[in-house]
Amino acid sequence: MKRSFAALESKVFDVVVIGGGITGAGIARDAAMRGLTVAIIDKGDWGSGTSSRSSRLIHGGIRYLEHGQIGLVRESVRERETLLRIAPHLVKPLEFTWPVYRGARLPKWKLRAGLSAYDLLAGVGRLRRHTSLSVSEVIEHEPSLRKESLSGGASYYDASTDDSRITLSNVQSAVTHGAVAVNYARMSSLTETAGKIDGAVIRDELSDAESRVRARCIVSATGPWQARGTKGSHVAVQRHRIGNRSAVTLTSPIDGRVMFVIPAGDQAIVGTTDTFTTDLPDDVRTSEADVDYLLASANVYFPDARLEANDVVAAWSGIRPLASAPAGTDPSSISREHHIDVGTNGVITVSGGKLTTYRSMAEEAVDELVALLAVKTPECRTSEEELPGGDRNLRRAALEVADRLLARPVLHGLPYTCSDVALAVTDEMAVTVADVTVRRTHIAFELPDHGASIAESVAGIMARLLGWDDATINARIADYVQQMNRLFTFRELS
Ligand SMILES: Cc1cc2nc3c(=O)[nH]c(=O)nc-3n(C[C@H](O)[C@H](O)[C@H](O)COP(=O)(O)OP(=O)(O)OC[C@H]3O[C@@H](n4cnc5c(N)ncnc54)[C@H](O)[C@@H]3O)c2cc1C
Repeated sequence: MKRSFAALESKVFDVVVIGGGITGAGIARDAAMRGLTVAIIDKGDWGSGTSSRSSRLIHGGIRYLEHGQIGLVRESVRERETLLRIAPHLVKPLEFTWPVYRGARLPKWKLRAGLSAYDLLAGVGRLRRHTSLSVSEVIEHEPSLRKESLSGGASYYDASTDDSRITLSNVQSAVTHGAVAVNYARMSSLTETAGKIDGAVIRDELSDAESRVRARCIVSATGPWQARGTKGSHVAVQRHRIGNRSAVTLTSPIDGRVMFVIPAGDQAIVGTTDTFTTDLPDDVRTSEADVDYLLASANVYFPDARLEANDVVAAWSGIRPLASAPAGTDPSSISREHHIDVGTNGVITVSGGKLTTYRSMAEEAVDELVALLAVKTPECRTSEEELPGGDRNLRRAALEVADRLLARPVLHGLPYTCSDVALAVTDEMAVTVADVTVRRTHIAFELPDHGASIAESVAGIMARLLGWDDATINARIADYVQQMNRLFTFRELS
């Protein structure tokens, strides 16, 4: 799968999708599957915005029930079921334990009622229904939880995913269905004839070349670059420090918000915060206050963890693009529903939504697109056809048989081999070091130096496949170290 900036000039596209987060990727896949001619671009890598900074959950959103958002929960649990079916390699059942303590904001009866409603909305599906737990059963599930004042709890199921990979998989599927997909391609302006948008000027962020793409319609899916939002932060710590066996749902003792501790290999991810921000999406960083909030909340429930800022392996933040974000409201109560605006000028703007509901949101947007183009197309089939990537382990193994050197680990102790780097380049459109270490693997989340020490060896493998000279290798490494400082650290930068 080769990146071809020139292909953007190859024809007049039915639609150019601007933004290759999960929203744009889902739309490009759906449109291409319906036979439309599609181009999708992103100014960075696929999923490099909010779509690689989520809690990686495909969830019904149990907490939305509290705010009476029944429609959103119904749509989310339905989509959860669809994604478990069409992407079993990317979306997997995850058990959550929700402990209840005496005096909790959400008492046991309320939790039971909420989870019963959650099960009812989900209907019969792949996930087990919730069960109520006694004090000893909660401790059996999660032995390191605080026992003092524990009055019981519940176990329920949602699903986990790899947010970057599910985004990439949608782009790959779009390409399989004929789409042109170019990352590191920034829309710098739209072009118009007689009041109607007919294309865009695109800048190649890797070479500074410029190109004009022609289109009958434009879909703008630039997430927080076009919509106001709230900042959400996560921290990753060594899992043995917290000792969680699976996922745990907590209400923060600081402000009562629902939070999660989520297992991710040897790490536990604690998230999230939810605060209004004026930060630009390109600049958003985790603050020391965000870290304090997350660690203080986790320490109350896991008293033996005694987490301090020095225990944080990585801290990262993203901006939730919210369709409506009235000032003065509690950020957590703002709806995660989406909004599709069909402009008279031929631009469709899609904002809001969440990872879980991307497919149904894309279906709705492409229905609007088809109406705007006034063409007849087959019905949406994205809930039927499996997402690509399920054979990745086989392809990786074949590569390692063909070249034994590729079977070497990228770094001892990490579950990635050099073949992961090679595959990222040859099959998955990775063109920078961060594409490999942040989004095709999670190396940058898992190492305290965020992969700085292995950047040279990763760049070396990439250079052989992409034909980089020494100057390009050095520029890519320098750029990488700078990016990692912004993305994953929380102390003031010197
Ligand atoms: C902390 C946090 C946790 C979350 N957890 C979950 C969760 O567990 N489950 C869930 O369902 N949802 C979750 N969400 C919500 C979900 O992550 C987002 O709704 C979703 O990722 C938004 O995707 P998007 O494609 O709209 O935006 P983005 O992923 O931000 O994509 C927009 C893209 O547009 C590109 N772009 C911008 N300007 C241009 C331009 N001029 N030219 C070309 N490209 C451009 C950007 O580079 C970017 O890649 C979470 C959100 C946050 C912040």
